[in-house]
Amino acid sequence: MLAQAVSATLRGIDGQRVVVEVHVGNGLPAFNVVGLPDASCREARDRVRAAILSSGFKWPSARITVNLAPSGVRKEGAGLDLAIALGVLAAGSDHLDDAPLKDYGFVAELGLDGSLRPVPGTLSLVASVHQPTVVVAAAATHEAMLAGNAVVRGCRSLGEVVACLAGLAPWPDIPAADHDPVATSPPDLADVAGHPFARQALEIAAAGGHNLLMVGPPGTGKSMLARRLPGIMPDLDPETALVTSRVHSVAGLPLPRAGLLAVPPFRAPHHSATMTSLIGGGSGRFRPGEVSCSHGGVLFLDELGEFSPRTLDALRQPLEDGHIRISRAHGSVTFPARFALVAAMNPCPCGLLGSAESCRCSDPARQRYMRRLSGPLLDRIDLRVHVERPTVGQLLDGEVGETSAAVRSRVLAARQRAAERGVRANVELPAASLDKVAPVEGAALAMLRAALDDGRLSARGLTRVRLVARTIADLAGADSIDERAIAGALALRARPALFDACEPTRA
Ligand SMILES: [Zn+2]
Repeated sequence: MLAQAVSATLRGIDGQRVVVEVHVGNGLPAFNVVGLPDASCREARDRVRAAILSSGFKWPSARITVNLAPSGVRKEGAGLDLAIALGVLAAGSDHLDDAPLKDYGFVAELGLDGSLRPVPGTLSLVASVHQPTVVVAAAATHEAMLAGNAVVRGCRSLGEVVACLAGLAPWPDIPAADHDPVATSPPDLADVAGHPFARQALEIAAAGGHNLLMVGPPGTGKSMLARRLPGIMPDLDPETALVTSRVHSVAGLPLPRAGLLAVPPFRAPHHSATMTSLIGGGSGRFRPGEVSCSHGGVLFLDELGEFSPRTLDALRQPLEDGHIRISRAHGSVTFPARFALVAAMNPCPCGLLGSAESCRCSDPARQRYMRRLSGPLLDRIDLRVHVERPTVGQLLDGEVGETSAAVRSRVLAARQRAAERGVRANVELPAASLDKVAPVEGAALAMLRAALDDGRLSARGLTRVRLVARTIADLAGADSIDERAIAGALALRARPALFDACEPTRA
């Protein structure tokens, strides 16, 4: 007997439709899975057999062959379990015939007790099944519905699926959405006292998509400031929302109950994070790393000086290209990775350099610390601010900072101006277009000349300064770039004085 059931496997963040063909025939009892299954997919044999027996069904005493088509595509993960189990039951038992299977797709892992479990990447998998109805684990129902191209049925066990397919029971109701696992409103800038320069840098970063480095002693609120960046950024555009939601689904992160991700994601990996968790990869299936989970949002690296130089070096490709390519012996995938980098670091290993208390570090220790920041990485960070401890006055006078909503309205207006130039944010403007979209004349031009002449600015730095000046002018609602905008951009590009002694390359 032969039966077919449709499912899907993951390739990066995309799903690929898989037809599971099951043949149950004469011969010595055996159970084989062919068609390029990976390790977790081959283990389906053990899970499927146990699940069928624990659900009270009979295991066919026959030669069972499962073929996963198309056979040239590597199948990863456990999402094919349910389709394989139903194929076996339809082809080799009288619990189910194969007629009802043809209108359905199945995306779920089986527990040994016959329970259905959600699988990573449900959103992409369901979208790629291309069947009128898709059956998933009950806990994955809401995520599966986000795919929007099939009727979704959520079940708790293999037994329940068989009963519903055979017409012996109605499909279970969709469980009511209880709490939302994703907080939809990021913290507000109004909670931050003082920090006028850092707040301005955050606003420019949000408006222009520029990367930001904050240097300052511990406990000055660098992380508190960074966490407020998503709240002043525009919502994700529909395409980015879909892509980022898929990445989060594949990474096993929760998605909002009501729809795709809308608020830009904020990811803050610890400095001890492995290369794989930051960049992506893994020995089995390809997993997206933090650079991809922050696609469309913010990647915050606190204590930048503590990250390994090798890890920081690996950030260069995504910072340059907006995606990351991961290669392994069994193939390669490309994950999206377009994020705003926000980094924070202490001025020296003890953190006290430049503050009222005196630094206890030796000169070589300070230099080693700063040298961890490679020139090429620093080169991609256009905004560098010194974050000081707020003064007692700023902390005590109870003055409330501007709200995120107020700042965000200026950011949205600036982004609108960028959109009229055909880009999402000014950071994406090609250097060749600068003379047209960011012309610099008169006193502002003289200011740039002076910076080039006295070595404060390199040729590459010149382009970056003009981009930031464009953003500053956009935030002020100005068409032309005046001295104020250039002075602001130059000041933000200037490396904090602490770098001077240690960094051999020019800004
Ligand atoms: Zn120190």
